[in-house]
Amino acid sequence: MNEKTHCGYIAIVGRPNVGKSTLLNCILGRKISITSPKPQTTRNQILGIKTQDSAQAVYIDTPGLHEAGQRAMNRYMNRLASSVIMDADVVVFMIEASRWTGEDDAVLNKLQGTKAPVILVINKVDTLKDKGQLLPLMNKLSEKFSFECIVPVSARKADNITYLEDIIAKLLPQGPHLFPEEQVTDKSIRFQVSEIIREKLIQETEQEVPYSTMVEIESYKENEKLVEINAIIWVEREGQKPIVIGQGGERLKKIGTQARKEIEKIVNQKVFLRLWVKVKDGWTDDERVFRSLDFE
Ligand code: GDP
Ligand code: MG
Repeated sequence: MNEKTHCGYIAIVGRPNVGKSTLLNCILGRKISITSPKPQTTRNQILGIKTQDSAQAVYIDTPGLHEAGQRAMNRYMNRLASSVIMDADVVVFMIEASRWTGEDDAVLNKLQGTKAPVILVINKVDTLKDKGQLLPLMNKLSEKFSFECIVPVSARKADNITYLEDIIAKLLPQGPHLFPEEQVTDKSIRFQVSEIIREKLIQETEQEVPYSTMVEIESYKENEKLVEINAIIWVEREGQKPIVIGQGGERLKKIGTQARKEIEKIVNQKVFLRLWVKVKDGWTDDERVFRSLDFE
């Protein structure tokens, strides 16, 4: 093959909750980044890789950029997101169709000085009652920054996403592919499993347990018949334990069942999942502990 190949990193940035992870999952046709209506669900940087013909697009789903926070984890997330912007070949800056906030301004400020082309993606256009609002909105936004282009989409409904992908493909620099063609993510199966459990946990406990909850895969054993997984849900305070476990263990059982079904889909095998809930005091304010628990 002497065909010229293209390959590049695409940073997906934007304030929490605009739909960055949903976009990535939509592009890859598979859930690799968990989503939820709660901000800051995406805690780690996640690579999503898509190879089509001679072009390989390596997407980076970033934890939401936001104003510098007090807590160590927030600082850590901000650092991550900024370095991602510097290294990207293309930046996808995502906002919501319905509103522009101060946090959007903060993200845009971080984009000043980037050499990479910035595509403004206006997400959730499905929520607009009047589609006639879109054109004036695009005109107004085009004055804020010299965007490469502005693309309205609905990540949830997969609306206009292939068009966006085509634009991105044309902006990728020439170069060899960095990953095998069939690879979809840089994350290990253990990481993906922990993220699925965390997603179900967030969905089931809603506002009662903060986003700082951590899931650790204690063991992952595979044989011909099934995959046996032991996972620990680390909560911040003793009082959160009964919330996660629920009346007579009902809630933990539900979390486990939902997670198991989804894990079975990615490993293509029967899964036996055991969940434990343990208390880790004050880890969110201690970056060292945060990193040591980060078993990537
Ligand atoms: P992130 O924090 O930017 O990664 O946002 P998520 O991908 O986790 O999405 C946040 C919320 O917005 C979730 O509840 C998604 O289902 C929802 N969402 C994402 N894209 C769309 C969209 O195109 N339309 C609508 N109506 N909701 C969306
Ligand atoms: Mg996300």
